[in-house]
Amino acid sequence: MFIGHFGVGFGAKALAPKVSLGALFLAAQFVDLLWPTLLLLGAERVRIEPGATAVTPLVFEHYPISHSLLAVLGWALLASLTYLLLRRDRLGAVVLGVLVISHWTLDAIVHRPDLPLFPGSATVIGLSAWSSVPITLALEVPLFVLGALMYGRATTPKDASGRWGFAALVVFLVGVYVGNLFGPPPPSSEAIAWVGQSQWLLVLWAYWIDRHRHASNRAQAAVR
Ligand SMILES: [Zn+2]
Repeated sequence: MFIGHFGVGFGAKALAPKVSLGALFLAAQFVDLLWPTLLLLGAERVRIEPGATAVTPLVFEHYPISHSLLAVLGWALLASLTYLLLRRDRLGAVVLGVLVISHWTLDAIVHRPDLPLFPGSATVIGLSAWSSVPITLALEVPLFVLGALMYGRATTPKDASGRWGFAALVVFLVGVYVGNLFGPPPPSSEAIAWVGQSQWLLVLWAYWIDRHRHASNRAQAAVR
């Protein structure tokens, strides 16, 4: 799952118009943003095995801190409380917490059974939608399209940066997705980690776009 998570982040703007798209992306992708650092520190492990699934050659051997259900609930709580303290926006805090959890839920649909319930748990969750490219696309593409449309409706560009920055981000995410699906497997787990770290730039990009767009009247009315 890649663009699906970003789709959910985009779509959440309709629920919480005051929260920047950057924060929504940060929450929806939080555990995947944490994961590269844990890989580089050696605290978590991934193996590359071409053909492991139809969609990705990555085998998630050990990732209890970023991807066990218990840890994800903890990260969600942390994200919510941090936002609440910083912005005093209860709705925004709840939406961000739910977004962090949504990541695990969507991963659980596509991953092979490799998501532990808690660190050290022998019970692993995963419905293996990644065993089929058509099923994965049927899940992820509508999620992304719907989310991007919802963000487009919930916000209006203030200027050309707001308009074209958003369009370029959508095109860029689709490009990365297609590259991941059809490109060669990554050379090493270290390379995966560094590509993963580059996702922080997407969060910054989203913050920048959101500064160049304002909440549409429709979205503001829905909140009132
Ligand atoms: Zn993940």
